[in-house]
Amino acid sequence: MEFADRYSRQILFPGIGLEGQRRLAGSRVAIVGCGATGTSVAGLLARAGIGNLLIIDRDFVEPSNLQRQSLFDEADAAESTPKAVAAARKIAAFNSEVRVHPEVADLTPENVEPLLGPADLVLDATDNFETRYLINDFAVKHGKPWIYAAAVASYAVTMNIIPGETACLACVFPAPPEGAVETCDTSGILNSAVNFVGSIQATEAIKLLVGARAQLRRTLLSLDLWTNDRAEVSAARPRPGCQACEQRDFVHLAGKRRPQITLCGRNSVQIHERNRPVDFVEMSSRLQPHGTVKHNDFVLKFWRDPYEMTLFPDGRAIIKGTNDTAVARSLYARFVGS
Ligand SMILES: [Zn+2]
Repeated sequence: MEFADRYSRQILFPGIGLEGQRRLAGSRVAIVGCGATGTSVAGLLARAGIGNLLIIDRDFVEPSNLQRQSLFDEADAAESTPKAVAAARKIAAFNSEVRVHPEVADLTPENVEPLLGPADLVLDATDNFETRYLINDFAVKHGKPWIYAAAVASYAVTMNIIPGETACLACVFPAPPEGAVETCDTSGILNSAVNFVGSIQATEAIKLLVGARAQLRRTLLSLDLWTNDRAEVSAARPRPGCQACEQRDFVHLAGKRRPQITLCGRNSVQIHERNRPVDFVEMSSRLQPHGTVKHNDFVLKFWRDPYEMTLFPDGRAIIKGTNDTAVARSLYARFVGS
């Protein structure tokens, strides 16, 4: 397809033009998380002609995702396709010129440098503060811009972080929120709130990539689409004394072993193994006597009442049916290995 034709409506837009469109084609963007916000922003940026997208997500598609996760369909849910893989396939169908690299993994202190290092810009589409502080530490350390975005219920919040210029996440929120945090599991979510925040994030990303720095928003913006409450707090300058910006004490990058995480949206626990290669054919026959087993190239599923275990080729597992990490760990040890 002719470049100038495909992107003609963006090239006509004075803020982008032909030069801006060429810059987008040469850009590399990493999207961390490919749930609701991730599919929204990945879809917009792929259609807009960002040349290279890295999509990092550890999860697989489920029926309850389809209400808001715009790059997935019923076949993806039926086959439990990993979200990063399903997103890459969908993007290839509408813009085969975008090079999409799907990475089925957690972002961790061990892999953050090789994964995010080549990116011009990092977009947060995660569902947890642990990963956001990890992105923030990495970005501030290397002077790489990133965009924070979150949505829950009818509420959306976003902030651009340009290290050395604006406030960072740790300037605004010195510590992760404590206690029970609202999640889409407990509060539900409107698909419009997700697409609202995804649209703002994608637009700010394009401004940054084409060099329209003066147009970038330098505030923490929050909006409730249901009540119409709106707030904007200046984030134009780093906070004196910030642990990341000023002290350059990157505690989240230094984190070694991560705790097991309870995932958003489900009564489930993830076991963070990644050095235990699993042969799905061999594992299927081993598990057969103990429950129901099914596998494809990407995941193996094992049902044993009341639990459902999803196993990945590197040994990582998601165990559904419990919030108790000890129960999950013992199931894993019993059926996969300790
Ligand atoms: Zn800071």
